[in-house]
Amino acid sequence: MKKNLFKILSLLTSFIPTKFLIKLSGKQTIYPFYHIINNNSPAHIKHLYPVRSIRQFEKDLDFLQKYFTASEFLQNKNKSAFILSFDDGLSDVYKTITPILKKRKIPAIFFINSAFIDNKDMFINYISSLKKENPKIDYKGYLKTEKPYLTKQQISELKTEGFTIGAHSINHPLFSEISEEEQIRQTKESIKFVTENFGETQKLFAFPFTDNGVKDTFFDTVFKNKITDYTFGTAGIKDDKIKNNIQRIPIEKYGMSAKRHIKTEYLLYILKKIIGKHIVEH
Ligand SMILES: [Zn+2]
Repeated sequence: MKKNLFKILSLLTSFIPTKFLIKLSGKQTIYPFYHIINNNSPAHIKHLYPVRSIRQFEKDLDFLQKYFTASEFLQNKNKSAFILSFDDGLSDVYKTITPILKKRKIPAIFFINSAFIDNKDMFINYISSLKKENPKIDYKGYLKTEKPYLTKQQISELKTEGFTIGAHSINHPLFSEISEEEQIRQTKESIKFVTENFGETQKLFAFPFTDNGVKDTFFDTVFKNKITDYTFGTAGIKDDKIKNNIQRIPIEKYGMSAKRHIKTEYLLYILKKIIGKHIVEH
């Protein structure tokens, strides 16, 4: 979806009540996701996407909790529910995000990259953002001083507190650009990391970037061999041809409030349903 088209459509949603959109769409459960909440935009993110402040995040949660019940994945018995998740395993999860979630009793899934935990290495796009900010920077030094990623210790604590840990590949490759064999290795290894280190019983995997271009044969292999129970994409409010592949809403993408972004996603879903384009085919 082009940014401008999304923005134009978002203007229309201010005239449509949220409850009406939910009802008309028939989509009762939504899966919003974020990466980071921070009052400042750190150098490794600054040139990639807009960062939400704590105040903006609290407002987003006010909206979500007004119309939906915060639920654990697969535990939802409510009429309309939201299942929240965060990608990339950034330390802001521990420092800023979970204190807010605990206060509001909101469960969440944290999707982590096994190669980056404990600040051992860094996602290539984060390195690019850092270099834009300071071309001479040594990212290994930045990892040591700034510690942008969660540590195993912090993740264990979050798991003990009842949060769910999911996998997000080993080192965040774009799946459509790697071989199927490598896709399976990235999935299997990162899930093994989560299971072995944190005793997570659910096998949840969120695709890095997008599931665009991932073939049916990949899904057949990972589900048949029980490598993962559920996979997650980033296509917004959509149905999916693959039963256990769930599409999530990238709330940060256009820098809009969750209210405006989610209402626009609903409107888009309804419009696409009319022309039969609401299902992700891969
Ligand atoms: Zn990611």
